[in-house]
Amino acid sequence: MTERQAAGLQLRAITKRYGEQTALHETTLKIPAGRFTSILGPSGCGKSTTLMLIAGLETPTSGCVLVDGEDVTNTPVEARGIGIVFQNYALFPNLTVKENILYGLRARKATDAEQSSRLAEMLELTYLTDLADRYPAELSGGQQQRVAIARALASESKVLLADEPTGNLDEDTSAGIIELLKQTAHETGKCVIVVTHSRQLAEEADEVMEIKEGKLKKV
Ligand code: ADP
Repeated sequence: MTERQAAGLQLRAITKRYGEQTALHETTLKIPAGRFTSILGPSGCGKSTTLMLIAGLETPTSGCVLVDGEDVTNTPVEARGIGIVFQNYALFPNLTVKENILYGLRARKATDAEQSSRLAEMLELTYLTDLADRYPAELSGGQQQRVAIARALASESKVLLADEPTGNLDEDTSAGIIELLKQTAHETGKCVIVVTHSRQLAEEADEVMEIKEGKLKKV
């Protein structure tokens, strides 16, 4: 297999059971890099479970998860190269935009040169250059979500997962965030995955996946 074919995320025969309850049943799926993919389904269908299995916050009962062709099923969350964006932004309130974005790079002791070039790149990608010294409380919801996206991408994550990223935003702002996620996938070549119950949002994506009866299928 060429590197290009392997780039992205794969689920191989993933089953996840919680006691008697099967949340996901023998799901096999390829999610390509450089594309914006949505995972759609009603509440309780297994969206959060799928996201947590990809991120490494849950372990599958059977099956495996591959990132760029590498089996990461037993790789801890911090070593998987996966960035996560949540509905409620989850920014550090006591840190500025700049400090939030640099958090992961500082934690792994990136050089000053690496930090400043990644910071400039992320600020430009998310249109936050002029707001770099503000605190989260001084930003709108849409701006805060852009910081969360920049932070999730700053540490060289190969996959960006977003869990209902526009759930707290008005229609226009949501459209801007969706456009940014799409642009991020195309410009950075990363695998960008949004999990949502909103068909309207899901259908904005390049690829739409739907969870039906515990199975994840391409629409
Ligand atoms: P969604 O995100 O689509 O709302 P979830 O992935 O949260 O769905 O849940 C899928 C199914 O698995 C649901 O029936 C839910 O009740 C069950 N479930 C999720 N997490 C747990 C858990 N920690 N323990 C037991 N059952 C769970």
